[in-house]
Amino acid sequence: MYAAPVNRLITELARLPGIGQRTAQRLAFHILRMPPEDVLPLAEAIKEVKETVGQCEICFNLAVGPRCRICEDARRDPELICVVEEPGDVIPIERTNEWAGRYHVLGGALSPIDGVDPEDLHITELVGRVTANGVREVVIATNSTTTGEATALYIADLLRERAPSVAVTRLASGLPVGADLEYADEVTLGKAFRGRQQL
Ligand SMILES: [Zn+2]
Repeated sequence: MYAAPVNRLITELARLPGIGQRTAQRLAFHILRMPPEDVLPLAEAIKEVKETVGQCEICFNLAVGPRCRICEDARRDPELICVVEEPGDVIPIERTNEWAGRYHVLGGALSPIDGVDPEDLHITELVGRVTANGVREVVIATNSTTTGEATALYIADLLRERAPSVAVTRLASGLPVGADLEYADEVTLGKAFRGRQQL
C-alpha cells in the first residue's frame, strides 16, 4: 500500500510490544514528518544500545562490558543476593537504598503454559553462585503474580535442597502506602495479615 521503506518501518514498529498495526502506522507517519535531526538520534540510540549493552556475566543484569556496575562495586556485599525477574526490576529496588547486596536476574518467570521452564531461566547459574561463594541470604523479589510466586517457590525448594545453610527470604507484600483498607483486595489484605510485624 505504501512505498516499500514506509511499509518496512510500519512492520518493524508493529513488532514492538503494545504497538498494533494502527499505532505503528501513526508512529511511522509521525517519523516521516519529523526533521532528520530530531529522528536520527532515535535510530542512533537504538543502534548504540544494541552494540554496547549486553548481559553481566555474573548476574545477567544489563552491562556495558562483561560485568555490570553493581557486580564491579566492591562495596556491594557478595554474600547477599536479590533475585529478580527482569533487569528493569533492579532499578526500583536500587531507588529504595535498602539493598547493599548483589542481584541475580532470572530473565523471566516460570510459566509452563507459555513454554517457560526452569532451563529457560538463569536458575542453574543462581544455584552455582549460591553454592560456590559462601552466600548468607537469597532474597527472592520476583513479582507478586502467579508466575512470580511459582518461581519463588521453585527456587526456594531448590535452594533448601542444594544450599541448606543459606537463608532464603521473600519480599513482604502488603498494603500500598497511602491506601485505604476499604479498597484493598482480599488477596493483598490477606498477605498483609500473614506478613504482620511487631510494632
Ligand atoms: Zn552483574
